This record gives sequence, structure tokens and C-alpha cells, in this order.
Amino acid sequence: MVEDYAATLPASAAEMASLLDTCGLALAEDLCADRDFPPFARSTRDGFAVRAGDVSHLPARLRSIGEIKAGAAPEQSGFIVNRGEAVEIMTGAPVPEGANAVVMVEHTDRNGDVVIVKRAVAVGENIVAAASEARCGDVMVARGTRVNHVVAAVAAAIGRPEIAVHRRPRVAILATGDEVIDINLRPGPNEIRNSNSYSLAAQVQTAGGEAVIPPVAPDEADELALLLRKGLEADLLLITGGVSMGKYDLVEQVLASFAAKVFFTGARIQPGRPVVFGEVTSGKATTPFFGLPGNPVSTMVTFQLFARPVLDALAGATPQPLPFAQATLKSEFTTGKGLTRFLPARLGGTHQRPEVEMIRWQGSGDLMAAARGNCYIVVPPDRERFAAGEAITVLMM
Ligand code: AMP
Ligand code: MG
Repeated sequence: MVEDYAATLPASAAEMASLLDTCGLALAEDLCADRDFPPFARSTRDGFAVRAGDVSHLPARLRSIGEIKAGAAPEQSGFIVNRGEAVEIMTGAPVPEGANAVVMVEHTDRNGDVVIVKRAVAVGENIVAAASEARCGDVMVARGTRVNHVVAAVAAAIGRPEIAVHRRPRVAILATGDEVIDINLRPGPNEIRNSNSYSLAAQVQTAGGEAVIPPVAPDEADELALLLRKGLEADLLLITGGVSMGKYDLVEQVLASFAAKVFFTGARIQPGRPVVFGEVTSGKATTPFFGLPGNPVSTMVTFQLFARPVLDALAGATPQPLPFAQATLKSEFTTGKGLTRFLPARLGGTHQRPEVEMIRWQGSGDLMAAARGNCYIVVPPDRERFAAGEAITVLMM
């Protein structure tokens, strides 16, 4: 449902930005090859450029007629390799005319001008043909892709110190709760610091958004209404707390007074069951909002499962599947049936055998358990008992 809704949202405007400032933002243009990749037939080894036919009978004796290093100007590398000849060549250097393979230096001996080749090579071996990775004009990375280290390398390789990216959508993050205080204040004995706004801000920034954090809203309708109104001026409003069944959980009530359109008020998951999704229209503007449960782990999980696709769309990013993986369960456990659960866990092991260990926790308020984890074990609603050694799905944090 969220994904369908997200598909209808317009992406934020495009702007040019310095490549170094674009990590996590979505491309607003295709990155196209400005020339062939590679631009010349490139040797992938240090060795000798040869004619494959010359080294089919071993050992083969060839005459070395010179050397080509990476970056060599054409006049220094303009050799033509004729029958019985070889040119010493370095990794990254252009393969000379006439040659059609490179023999690794490890498979040769050298005696003055004579190269003794001890292993045969196939035509094309240790050479990447010109334009075999991309042709000039080809799309190397499509618009909508988030800039990461790979995309940054492509942009650099095509000579783009500036690239077009989508602006960061503004995401207001409103924490609620009389017991919740700003983090620069000293908590009284019955108070806790507002951690949710900061976990969400980090998740928002990673997803290419700009986090805006107003003061914490009290569990009091009028002031909550004021802060919600203000929050709805952003491109997306995230509210934490105040959406459960408690007497002072006022968020839904206040949003109802704004004639909010509510798409759902819960999900059969744990943590995060009371998650709310809707939108408020005032004048010409419509702002989507999520009411995320206040327990810190619930907030994190529900952002990732539900709010993230909406932010992706606003940020101009092509929808991505959730980062699921499979691992072997290290220890047995039991849970209740009926809900899909996302339980903090630690993925480790080796590449032959990725293993996941559940982290003991005190429930969805247990921030410390989440902090020791790097993923969630995903428990389907129809299972309650899992044995050590079983394969199980995890969702990366
Ligand atoms: P609520 O969803 O308002 O019922 O809150 C559920 C639990 O999460 C309560 O124990 C709250 O104290 C806690 N909580 C709510 N908001 C925050 C916040 N911003 N930071 C940390 N904990 C919170
Ligand atoms: Mg509350």
C-alpha cells in the first residue's frame, strides 16, 4: 500500500551539486559514458604483448622490441608486433597493434632481447577490448540511483565533478510524550531523553532527506495540534509516540481534527504494531505522515518498513527492495504466533556459513539490544519454534 502511494509522489527538484556532497542522494540525470570504456584495448597484467599463435608451441622464443607503460604517449607505444615479436607491457597500458594477447610476466624468462614464453595464451587473454565495458554515450548509471561509492567512481571516471541530484526533501520529526525531553536538558527521575528524533534523523539523512526537529510535543491536544500543523509544512511528517491505545495517545485524535485521510492504523508486526499512515490536505498541499510507535526499536523498524519507501520517492530514488538475507540460526528460540516479528540480532559467521544470533532483549523499548545488533531476524506469523542450524531470513538494519 505504501509502495503504491509512494509511486504517485513527485520527486523533489533537481540541482547541480559537487560530487563530494552527493553521497546518499538520488541521481537526477543518467550518467553517460563520455568516451569508450576502456578507451583503448587495455592490458590487465604486467607481462608481454604477443601474438597468441606465436606461443602455441612451448617454450616459445620471441624477440622483445620495446616496452609500453601505463599512460605512455602514443609515440612511445606505437609498436607493431609482428610474428616472432613481443612488447613488454604493464597493467593498464594500451595493447600494441599486432598483438592479441598478453602473457603474464610470471610465465616468462628473459635473456637480453629474447623472451622465453613458458605458457600459451588464448586470443584476447589478459586484454579488455576497447569499448567492451561501455560505448561512448551509453548510460552507465541510471537516474534515480542513489550515489554511493560505486556511482561516485563512475561520475569521476566520466569527468563529472558536479552532477545533477534531487534536493533533500524536508522531513519533520515530531516526538511526543510528557516524559520525553530534549537531549540538552537534564532528565528528572521520571523523564527520558528524546532518542527517537535522532535515530529517525539518521535514517532520514541516509535516505537522502533533511531532518527538521521541532521541540518535543506534550501529551496535550492544543499544543500537539500546533506542532503537528507546523510539522505538516514539511514534505513528510514523522511523529513518534502517542499512537497506541493509551488514554494520552492523542496523535490520531488531533490529526482527525485536521480531516486527515488515514490509510491504516496498525500492522500485524512486532515491534511496531500501532503504526499509522495517512495524509493531510490543507489548501493545495498534501503532506503524508506516519505515526510511529514511541518505543525506540518500534520507531526504527517502522521507519524502515513503511516510511522509507515514501521518503525514497520524495528523494527521487528508484524503489528498492528491503535488504533481506538468509543465515543459519545459531541458537534455538520460541516466540508467539500471529505477528511477523523483527527481532534484533547479530549477523556474523563467514562467507561459507553466515550465522545469525538473536540478541536477548527486554522488548521494543530495548535500545541497548538494538545497539548490539546489525540486523533483525524476521519471524513469519505462522511459526513459533526455531531450532539451531535452521536457515532464517534477516533484514539488515
Ligand atoms: P508511546 O508510543 O507514546 O506509548 O511510547 C511508548 C514508549 O516509548 C514509552 O515508554 C515512551 O516513554 C517511549 N518513547 C516515546 N517517545 C520516545 C522518544 N522520542 N525517545 C525515546 N523513547 C520514547
Ligand atoms: Mg507517549
